[in-house]
Amino acid sequence: MKTKIEIPAVKLYNTRTRKKEEFIPINPPYVGIYVCGPTVYSDPHLGHARAAVVFDVLRRYLNHLGYKVRFVSNITDVGHLEGDSDEGEDKIQKRARLEQLEPMEIAQHYTRVYNMSMAKLNVIPPNIQPHATCHIPEQIELVEKILERGFAYVVNGSVYFDVPKYAKKYQYGVLSGRRLEELENVSRELRGVEEKRHPADFALWKKAPPTHIMKWKSPWSVGFPGWHLECTVMNAKYLGIPFDIHGGGMDLIFPHHECEIMQSVAAWDTEPVKYWVHNNLITIDGQKMSKSLGNFITIEQVFTGSHDRLSKAYHPMAVRLLILQTHYRSVIDFSDSGLAGAERAYKRLVQALKKLNNLEFVGGNEDTSMQAQIVEYIRKFYEFMSDDLNTARAVAQLFELAGIINKLSGEGKFVKTISKEVGDMLKNHYSKALTDILGIVPEEEHVDSTRLYGVLQILISIRQEARARKDFELADRIRDQLKELGIILRDTPQGTEWEIE
Ligand SMILES: [Zn+2]
Repeated sequence: MKTKIEIPAVKLYNTRTRKKEEFIPINPPYVGIYVCGPTVYSDPHLGHARAAVVFDVLRRYLNHLGYKVRFVSNITDVGHLEGDSDEGEDKIQKRARLEQLEPMEIAQHYTRVYNMSMAKLNVIPPNIQPHATCHIPEQIELVEKILERGFAYVVNGSVYFDVPKYAKKYQYGVLSGRRLEELENVSRELRGVEEKRHPADFALWKKAPPTHIMKWKSPWSVGFPGWHLECTVMNAKYLGIPFDIHGGGMDLIFPHHECEIMQSVAAWDTEPVKYWVHNNLITIDGQKMSKSLGNFITIEQVFTGSHDRLSKAYHPMAVRLLILQTHYRSVIDFSDSGLAGAERAYKRLVQALKKLNNLEFVGGNEDTSMQAQIVEYIRKFYEFMSDDLNTARAVAQLFELAGIINKLSGEGKFVKTISKEVGDMLKNHYSKALTDILGIVPEEEHVDSTRLYGVLQILISIRQEARARKDFELADRIRDQLKELGIILRDTPQGTEWEIE
């Protein structure tokens, strides 16, 4: 029996080329992944959960294959206006005004809520989680560079990207397939901003109105950066240009990612990304999620069951599994019954894991066709994972294996129908596939990881208080003892970050 599994080369659907391509990193074994993170002005919802889980599994899978992944996902804490085309109020500032808080208070609060929700979903924290507000000098530099190269213009203290000029030298719409002429007939009213020379132009820097709170000095005005700028600056800074994979939801293809490409090409004459990967959107009970339809569900509401559309609280792992049971490029529908089904499925998968760990495979009376089936389901798991991350079909293979495990456990602790070799292979791959690659962990481990996160936050804030009152002895003791446990604390201007060694 051949028990060595050959894992096929990974293929990914590249939005840029509109086809599935073999994944070949620019500098193997290193892989750079950048995923647009949340704009932190409200509680994260199921759409955030989807993007985070999809790219977490991609990262885990590449790590499993031996790549060394640097995963960067940003926090947008300035510059994202209500209208994506440079009009309306800054989302965070608006929230701050409504709640009478500092904008940074809003950003800090919702960053914490977001990270906590991600921890519950067992999403590995990014290696770097840069904040837009911490990269204002770099953003100003990039605007200067684009101006220098002649692809931007200044009007009344604001700077706009000159799209028609860009389109004369380079191709416009490479990612979204949009044509510049389509935008030409948009009426003045719909264009939103009078200062723009062309409706497709977009803001690189906006002069701040006097009431605006979040603003910085620049050569053009006291103002704030355009939304698209931060991602170009932060992915260039932490991953270099070009880098391997840029991810995000399909709704970001235009204008956000299209603008990222134009900024990078205008500044450095280089497209920023080799593979653009986009996950599809979500619906709730078959409808688009929106506040006006009353079907806007936050991640925390699913975990607590506190929404009219939900009959109960759902386990975070049920949410994670439901997401993975649909291919990332298909629309996913969240419903109460879908979540209930995913929760039952979750229990089935982890119960099989527990049973499997208690079995001992001794062989002696081998069922060769069952052995062949086991090897085949494992092989297919990797085949589907490598085929554009088809987690839906990969998970289906684990259900087949769970069925076999249930049957085998009927034999008692010592299983004779499976040889030791095949049995050990089953143990090894089933647990790796489920917990390491798909990130679906049993209840005990899950509670441990979210509790660990909570306890760490408490220790970090005690240490911050100690530092503030200059009790460095206590602060250092907390840091050193955590280090002995393999938890590394790092103090940065944004606060204390941690990493598990
Ligand atoms: Zn972005």
